[in-house]
Amino acid sequence: MTDTIEHIEQEFQTRLTTVSGEEDLRKLKADFIGKKGHVSLMMKNLKSLSPEEKKQAGQALNTLKNRIESVLQEKLGRLEQQAAEARASRVDVTLPGRKPPEGHLHPITQVMEEISGIFTRMGFAVEEGPEIESDFYNFEALNIPQDHPARDMQDTFYIGGKVLRTHTSPVQIHVMERQQPPLRIIAPGKVYRCDSDVSHTPMFHQIEGLMVDRGVRFSDLKGVIERFLKEVFGENVAVRFRPSFFPFTSPSAEVDIQCVMCTGSGCRTCSQTGWLEILGCGMVDPAVFGFVNYDPEEWTGFAFGLGIERIAMLKYGINDIRLYFENDLRFLKQF
Ligand SMILES: [Zn+2]
Repeated sequence: MTDTIEHIEQEFQTRLTTVSGEEDLRKLKADFIGKKGHVSLMMKNLKSLSPEEKKQAGQALNTLKNRIESVLQEKLGRLEQQAAEARASRVDVTLPGRKPPEGHLHPITQVMEEISGIFTRMGFAVEEGPEIESDFYNFEALNIPQDHPARDMQDTFYIGGKVLRTHTSPVQIHVMERQQPPLRIIAPGKVYRCDSDVSHTPMFHQIEGLMVDRGVRFSDLKGVIERFLKEVFGENVAVRFRPSFFPFTSPSAEVDIQCVMCTGSGCRTCSQTGWLEILGCGMVDPAVFGFVNYDPEEWTGFAFGLGIERIAMLKYGINDIRLYFENDLRFLKQF
């Protein structure tokens, strides 16, 4: 009996080496452990044995059956893997690939980078500052004392004893505190005001600019601003400076460009004036230099600030600022 069992196992191992597909494997399984397979037939023959022999042979046959089953299972796994590999190798690698969907920079980021690029080419370094500011940096050091009416102009978000910066101007103060002139910097970043309608969002982006050196004059400011606006809106854009007021510059000016929608003939965007207000600027007020210990007799400088969203709206003809922040891909994909 034991000899026969060994014989069956040897035969199984021999047959196994000839298996080349799942069909062969199924046949092999039927021949050995199927209902009419060798092992099953042997089981039936156990009846003729003595109880002791029956027990021994029965255990041996069961062990053999389990072994055969696990070998077949393993072989099946290998065959399936080979088949999968064969299928994979049939892929036509000459076919054009399917491109994964590709994102791009947000239009506001694109415009911010374009503007930063124009100023860095003019020698301005990019600086950053905190978005949570103390009252000193956001107001006081910019010549906006506690009772100054300019504080009413800005709807400030207060958190604890601090404020979310209402403009990028505080970066000027940080830079001047740690650096001696001459300096030329721009500070792009997020600013916050409690305001929301078609032309205002509670968070928007500004770029602040500052240049301090010996003998910096208003004509230098004009030259830099005009160059910048021509780079953004084209060489033929008309630019005008209007006298204005900001607490931290004196004299101050607001800068308009000829309306890009109607080229000056008057439309809804420019309220029929033919001009669009684009940025604020001026010569740094000597009082601001006082806060950072610069000698106003030695140094002069100019500063300017502009809203990125406003420039992006005019550049792309967008009439609702909120579109930029709704994250609607149908809108964003157009840029
Ligand atoms: Zn217009």
